[in-house]
Amino acid sequence: MAEPGHEDGHEDGYEGPATLVAGPARVDVQVRLRGYFQPIDGRYHWYGRIEPNEDLTGVVGSGRARAVLTTPGGSAPCELSDPDPWQRYRVTGLSTPPFAIQTTPAGQPRDEAAAPEPRNEAAAPEPRGEISGAAQQPQAAAQQPQNEASGAPGPAAPLPSHVRVAIIGAGFGGIGAAIALRKAGHTGFVVLERAAAVGGTWRDNSYPGCTCDVPSHLYSFSFAPNPDWTRSFSRQAEIWDYLERVTDRYGLRGKIRCEAAMTEARWDVSRARWRIRTTRGDLTADVLVSAAGPLSAPALPDIPGLASFPGPVFHSAQWNHDFDLAGKRVAVVGTGASAIQIVPEIQPRVGRLVLFQRTPAWVMPRHDRKISGAEKWLYRHVPLTQRAARLGIYLSRRRPAPPPSTPGPRPRNAGAPASSSGWRPRSGPPAAA
Ligand SMILES: Cc1cc2nc3c(=O)[nH]c(=O)nc-3n(C[C@H](O)[C@H](O)[C@H](O)COP(=O)(O)OP(=O)(O)OC[C@H]3O[C@@H](n4cnc5c(N)ncnc54)[C@H](O)[C@@H]3O)c2cc1C
Repeated sequence: MAEPGHEDGHEDGYEGPATLVAGPARVDVQVRLRGYFQPIDGRYHWYGRIEPNEDLTGVVGSGRARAVLTTPGGSAPCELSDPDPWQRYRVTGLSTPPFAIQTTPAGQPRDEAAAPEPRNEAAAPEPRGEISGAAQQPQAAAQQPQNEASGAPGPAAPLPSHVRVAIIGAGFGGIGAAIALRKAGHTGFVVLERAAAVGGTWRDNSYPGCTCDVPSHLYSFSFAPNPDWTRSFSRQAEIWDYLERVTDRYGLRGKIRCEAAMTEARWDVSRARWRIRTTRGDLTADVLVSAAGPLSAPALPDIPGLASFPGPVFHSAQWNHDFDLAGKRVAVVGTGASAIQIVPEIQPRVGRLVLFQRTPAWVMPRHDRKISGAEKWLYRHVPLTQRAARLGIYLSRRRPAPPPSTPGPRPRNAGAPASSSGWRPRSGPPAAA
């Protein structure tokens, strides 16, 4: 299974059962995976084959598809390409592999070493000293280059002892902040992420139907448009993959420390710096940026008796994929943005579905559609067209919302207008599936 161009013979890998989630489908598969650190582009490349599986044919067909592959060692976004004559699909991924890896032959942790500078931006100047203000922090300034140079930075590398800026969280917010610092020429920062991979919301939420509800051309960084979005409202795997790619594109791997949950941050008045505790050790920072996410801690509702409910209970952000909902009596609590995606996906499979609604939400058609090959070509080769599409979406969404059909305050149990799927939130008795 050697990859062309990979000659050093050092490979990690995994063989065994895995689960592939492609769009709404979830298929148990057998995989053979390999991976290696590629010093030329500074990224970890992983690839392999999925053993023939009839279910996969129905899901992926004969083309390419984006998916999330999960093994006992972890999850990662990936791309599937055409099956070979034996109906084995090829799977490839960059950066975060779904299996544990060794260090590279050179002893460097994955993803760092040759972390490339931004490809489409003016190269950020490397530190001449530090960001402004470091002059008043001689000790900090002295420590920083040493930490950066000797610490073999990377997701698993030791924490620096002091940074100018510590960013908490590697979701859209943390990655965006890190890119902004890089683009401004700053290098004395670190991103502390409690999970094993970047992605935030889009790494954690894998419930059936998980999709963005703002069009993808808008729900992406303005400076990093993605001409490859496959749908106007992309699925979770594609958005997570986008965040992984942006992380690589802006050379951020060496700045991110994974599995480093911040447990305490205290402002030290005497030294004028933050003292930060993490599950991987302590550090100090002049500036602390919280990008820990407003929705990153799932909360189960405080319903009397919930703790003694005998059936499985799980939050949409921690979907229990091991529990088969087919034919079961299922209660969904809430009619917010996640429920509206989950319910139409699971309703055809479950035996009976009860949806509990407290406050009705307005539901409008989403107009999701496939983005054609011609559009993708245009966005890639004439980037201005994608910028125009983004601007058009932005302006159209700034229009005032149409007035509700019933003037005045909405009654608490009012029904909402039908969605594109024909599903209506219910406030009445349980809905039979
Ligand atoms: C299912 C779902 C769909 C959504 N769809 C949309 C949409 O379509 N459009 C839209 O505008 N918004 C949407 N949102 C809102 C979404 O949360 C934001 O758009 C955005 O992704 C938030 O990014 P973030 O970086 O602020 O937070 P997150 O993506 O939550 O990232 C926070 C990161 O911080 C890490 N973290 C938290 N605490 C610590 C700690 N103590 N130490 C270290 N790391 C920590 C977390 O592990 C996580 O990786 C959606 C949210 C959900 C849950």
